[in-house]
Amino acid sequence: MAGIYIHIPFCLTACDYCDFYSVTNKTHLLPDFVRAICAEIKHRNRELSGEIINTIYFGGGTPSMISPGQLEEILLSVFRCYTVSPEAEITIEANPDDISDSWCEALIAMGFNRISIGTQSFSDGALKFLNRRHNASRAREAIRISANAGFQNISADLIYGIPGYTDGLLYNDLIFFVNSEVQHISVYALTVEHNTPLHRKISRGQKQCPDEDVQSGQYLIIHDFLESNGYDGYEISNFALPGFRSRHNSAYWEAIPYLGFGPAAHSFHFNERRYNAPSLVDYIRRADSLTFRTLSEKLSLTDMYNEYVMTALRTKSGLKRSRLKQFLTGTFEIKANQALRKFEQAGWIQLQPESICLTREGKLFADRISRELFLENDSQ
Ligand code: SF4
Repeated sequence: MAGIYIHIPFCLTACDYCDFYSVTNKTHLLPDFVRAICAEIKHRNRELSGEIINTIYFGGGTPSMISPGQLEEILLSVFRCYTVSPEAEITIEANPDDISDSWCEALIAMGFNRISIGTQSFSDGALKFLNRRHNASRAREAIRISANAGFQNISADLIYGIPGYTDGLLYNDLIFFVNSEVQHISVYALTVEHNTPLHRKISRGQKQCPDEDVQSGQYLIIHDFLESNGYDGYEISNFALPGFRSRHNSAYWEAIPYLGFGPAAHSFHFNERRYNAPSLVDYIRRADSLTFRTLSEKLSLTDMYNEYVMTALRTKSGLKRSRLKQFLTGTFEIKANQALRKFEQAGWIQLQPESICLTREGKLFADRISRELFLENDSQ
């Protein structure tokens, strides 16, 4: 069982907070990019030989910017080169502005069965702060069009903790999500990454910095509202109606192997992580000679333990004691147990016979708890 990630690095405009690899003003390179990514998919078709592909995810960038014909060419390359399960979850990320009846119908016909819409907010003020290209009414319309066109597995994104985005606006957005019956909601606190326009604007005093206390309060509002309306918070940032957890993202958290194609895409297999270089022009240039520039990193036992703690702790099922035992011995086990008892007393985790799970309040401190459980690289 394995997954495939396709990175489409094109965007029409750049959002102020974004630090993903993407390019604007390069749509003239789209035909070359499609040729290059199909070549990469074919070139690497032995890497997961014998594995059944259970999920395919088109992310970006903005995959909805490229034409249905180009998306189909890429999807067909995957089907030709890999054994794809007939039950595979096939997702496309889409910008609300790009979604129309005919676009959705074309994608459903070629096999996409899940859409992840970058709504981010239904507040025009918040969308303006983020410098998103769509507006609030377009975000609402995109969900309606996708559902009417036949998508039965719709995910939508919400960014909270944006300056000026009040609890009242947040409640309005949550009510809209629940009434529209989207099956899955991903929620993110606005973070200010280095080297983003948002970081520069805040440094120059042109934009306000998000307030961490407001963000914590808003996370708990979201958590409680969605849980009481039937959405299962199966991971800190992800809420789903029964049967609609993202299979692709869940596979990342379970360390199931995946291949990533396209500039800046990551792959993971056994204990090796590979990264394609983040340069569209270089990627296209190298495709003819099939000499794609890839960096790779072998994960040590300590790296694998730390990744397990960081990802599994965020999930509803939490850390499995049996997995921890595979990694922790001697003094490290004693230290970890001391830390866990401290967090239990603070009310942040629940120690269960088989697992260790975050409490509602503990979800606000997941990073801090993980950091205290991490091992140093030479400690094993
Ligand atoms: S559309 Fe997505 S990838 Fe493109 S700039 Fe905005 S957040 Fe980044």
